[in-house]
Amino acid sequence: MSEVIKLLPDHIANQIAAGEVVQRPASVLKELVENSIDAGSSLIQIHVKDGGKTLVHVIDNGCGMSEVDARMSFERHATSKIKKADDLFELSTKGFRGEALASIAAIAHVTLKTRLHDEELGTEIINEGSKITQQEPTSCQAGTSIAVKNLFFNVPARRNFLGQNNTEYRKVLDEFHRIALAHPDVEFILQHNGDEIYNLKKSNLRQRIVQIFGKNYNQRLVPINEETDIVKITGYVVKPEYAKNSKDQTFFFVNNRFFKDRYFHHAVMNAYEGLIPSGKHVSYFLFFDVPTKSIDVNVHPTKTEIKFEENRPIYAILRSSVKQGLGQYNIAPTIDFDPELGFNPPPLKKGETVAVPEVKFNPDYNPFKSTENTPSKSGTTGAISSKGFSKLVPDQDAWENFYGDAKEEEENQVTGFDEETEDSLTITSEFEEKEVAVERKQPIQINAKYILSAVKSGFILIDQYRAHFRIRYDEMTESEVSVKSQKLLFPEYLEIDKFETSFWLEIIPELEKIGFELKQTEEQLEIIAVPIAAGLKNPKKLLEEIALEYHQSEQIENTGVEEMIRLSAASALARKGGELLTTEEMNYVIDTLFASSSPQIAPNGKKIIETITLEEIAKRFS
Ligand code: ADP
Ligand code: MG
Repeated sequence: MSEVIKLLPDHIANQIAAGEVVQRPASVLKELVENSIDAGSSLIQIHVKDGGKTLVHVIDNGCGMSEVDARMSFERHATSKIKKADDLFELSTKGFRGEALASIAAIAHVTLKTRLHDEELGTEIINEGSKITQQEPTSCQAGTSIAVKNLFFNVPARRNFLGQNNTEYRKVLDEFHRIALAHPDVEFILQHNGDEIYNLKKSNLRQRIVQIFGKNYNQRLVPINEETDIVKITGYVVKPEYAKNSKDQTFFFVNNRFFKDRYFHHAVMNAYEGLIPSGKHVSYFLFFDVPTKSIDVNVHPTKTEIKFEENRPIYAILRSSVKQGLGQYNIAPTIDFDPELGFNPPPLKKGETVAVPEVKFNPDYNPFKSTENTPSKSGTTGAISSKGFSKLVPDQDAWENFYGDAKEEEENQVTGFDEETEDSLTITSEFEEKEVAVERKQPIQINAKYILSAVKSGFILIDQYRAHFRIRYDEMTESEVSVKSQKLLFPEYLEIDKFETSFWLEIIPELEKIGFELKQTEEQLEIIAVPIAAGLKNPKKLLEEIALEYHQSEQIENTGVEEMIRLSAASALARKGGELLTTEEMNYVIDTLFASSSPQIAPNGKKIIETITLEEIAKRFS
């Protein structure tokens, strides 16, 4: 038999690696500027054209490279920053993989000019798609200049995948902000299509924030300073009255490296609890210093996700230091709190009027046999609470009517939910106004994930997990009166780590509200009872899943513990995709879903039902 395994040629290997390192012009900017910072530059100039698609050019006054190093820098795994494997864990420089330049050169036209400070002549190298087409001595300024032109010129599929120039430019700006914030001691100049966008002089962090985001910021900032054995946290958060609708200016850095972390974001938002209205966001610029050995920056190729050894204690420290910072500046929800933002509307100012809230449903119509019938939109979180529907009973006519009206629904564009906008949901219950009843057919489960059900004007597909999520969530919000709980025959025990105790202490009361009965000792949790909805689920696994959901929850906005637990538990209790359902169970889902507070939208804002009309089906056969 002949051998079939071959080593990939270098230029192909580089192209593959490029896929990891370089997604778009902004990634090129990041890699180049980080190299400039590692080279000890005090001034970095950046020229970008067409959002970076045509050109990203970075010029620095750093150490520069010798002729040999200049050539070497394009080799894969060529780096001056790591010498032994152990160095990986004690990283203080930005780069370390030694693959950025090789990757970039594999998919662009790169011109490198570089000179050491004590040399007279520098080196110029042109590298196009991993081929060095020119190398010669040149006279140039000390430091390094790297111009990256025509990104993805040889990978059309990736080039087509890039956004409009504007989109790419925004990403370039985001990246630039991150780096410029992390290095206020470095002077930066940024030009786009020849226009000077930023000229940032050497400064401190506060000034740098103001230089970038505007002088309004000066009065908004509250300093944070906390030093403990495991982490030092410094930086700024904004005063609560400057909370806004978008969450763009949220920056975490660890050892001066930008990273994203929903868990820590939640810690910050938590510190603002009671100070800002739900759905609003605050800006923050927070820097963590930790021993390099206690983080792993290697988890993500583009390095914006970072694993912390001690993330739970850091969460607690972060939350309390932000709270303290806000407290020291005597920031409480007092008179200077913008009344328009308040959850308890304060008295009106002179001459002010109140706008009637817009409610997008017919308040007179209720298809359910309900004892309470004025649905209201609860504003406690981004999710829709079901309080107004607390005693709904499924009504046969209701779903039949829905079934009869799939076509009208299509015209009403029920399918237009934006999966991304979880903040601004309104209750749209178009299915309520139906007239024609039809005979109900047996539902079918598809791919252990969707429930398909025929309706008069076509069929509907229900996402089984999202539907269950809605049902479980509603049960919890309605069960304030009577908690439905089942005692375990024999209690089970969940081992917990010592450092987790405070976490469990915080959430146990909330878990008990939804049907758990738990007793905490130092190193374990005794599970005495679980919610009835848990069915045959393993109680330990269920609790672990809730804890995990809690940490990873999308609901990172200003959501209280109680609500977070409801959402996490509802999600953990829901029947996930992959679980087979009997016909009876599917009918149960359909019935209960349509009696729920919001059959169309899961508590995470995602669409539950998709309708396919007869017309659409007919079109496919034409
Ligand atoms: P890494 O940064 O991971 O080491 P790169 O591919 O980004 O890998 O760069 C390879 C090497 O090229 C670096 O280790 C450094 O020695 C050199 N280099 C790259 N850019 C510069 C620069 N702007 N100034 C000086 N040296 C540089
Ligand atoms: Mg690098």
